[in-house]
Amino acid sequence: MNRQLFTNESPSSGTRSVWAGEGKDLLQGATQVPVVHSVSFGYRDIDHWHEVALGQKEGHIYSRNTNPTVQVFEEKVRSLEKAEAAVSFSTGMAAISSSLFTFLSPGDRVVTIKDTYGGTGKIFLHHLPRFQIDVAMCETEDADGIEKEVAKGCQVLYLETPTNPTLKVLDLKRLIETAHRKGALVLVDNTFATPINQNPLDLGADLVIHSATKFLGGHADALGGVICGSEELVQRVFSYREIHGATLQPMAAYLLLRGMKTLHLRIQQQNESALTIAKWLETHPKIEEVYYPGLPSHPHYKIACQQMRGFGGVLSFSLKGGMEMVRSFLPQLRFAHLAANLGSVETVAGPPRTSSHVECTEEERQALGIPEGLIRYSVGIEETQDLLNDLEQALEAIPERIDCSS
Ligand SMILES: *Cc1c(COP(=O)(O)O)cnc(C)c1O
Repeated sequence: MNRQLFTNESPSSGTRSVWAGEGKDLLQGATQVPVVHSVSFGYRDIDHWHEVALGQKEGHIYSRNTNPTVQVFEEKVRSLEKAEAAVSFSTGMAAISSSLFTFLSPGDRVVTIKDTYGGTGKIFLHHLPRFQIDVAMCETEDADGIEKEVAKGCQVLYLETPTNPTLKVLDLKRLIETAHRKGALVLVDNTFATPINQNPLDLGADLVIHSATKFLGGHADALGGVICGSEELVQRVFSYREIHGATLQPMAAYLLLRGMKTLHLRIQQQNESALTIAKWLETHPKIEEVYYPGLPSHPHYKIACQQMRGFGGVLSFSLKGGMEMVRSFLPQLRFAHLAANLGSVETVAGPPRTSSHVECTEEERQALGIPEGLIRYSVGIEETQDLLNDLEQALEAIPERIDCSS
């Protein structure tokens, strides 16, 4: 767990992306954060060792608990989310499951939405109920329904916005206020927005969670997760993680924190390209529907404008003709990995059934209202015009309508 080293007032998030956590006494004046692979940290002075172990002096004991490289990564995210404290995990799912298991006990109740990330949905559907934790999964767009479930009483309200893969936007301020009136903690998965576009803690959330694997790292070469919030709450999750053991590895921490130095530049470019592409797709005759919160036609456009500074790098669209068309369209793309991740410098595209909701059955996906012909398109940092040209040639290459007799 990492405490505040960089004050929350200034400078801007771009400068924080570069500098937060950096420039402390590094090994022999190294300007870059060393990757400290050491499992343990030795002391000749037994009393000093004991004081570090008790948390009375700064230092490290054992890397499952804290590690210098991992600490710099935590400090960077903490600073960008303007939180008191942050703690990291081996993956985003480890951050999510550890947070839920820290704050929920048998007999408790959690309220959430149907549109959470597929893996998160699995925790709500299959794992929490095994521990006699009552789960209410609400229709994502029904704010009144969510408030009704919260009013029945709950310990945790778990939210995610924008959602994956249909980019629904929740009114965070409203839902957080409702939950706080009932004394519930509010956890928000901020992976899609990133701290550049949205800070849920500013809107009242108690904890913000990221899959650092996505936009934070930005290069699809390291897995990681992180949560940020008050010192007291983060300390509780940290204590759970110390023993549960889903620790972020130093090499992954280094890759993630190096990626984060360009976070603000990547997100600016991805925001801009995604909006341009979404607007263009909306006018294309072979496109059935486009899902992007930056489009004035999006049902939650107004809320998105209120709580986000940019609309993010992920959009989804469906093709007229459904799954058959998706099958012929996707391989035509020249500048897109057909893969399950998102938030990378390269554009990534794929259908939810093999990406965000691969953990779900066909029936579960249908129940979640994920259209069969949907494509999730995570915009990289390529030139916008090249991506538009790529989409155009791929759309041209697919038939107007699939011949069912062949
Ligand atoms: C990918 C993702 C996760 C899970 O993160 P991992 O690092 O893959 O474990 C959680 N939430 C959202 C919104 C995601 O996109």
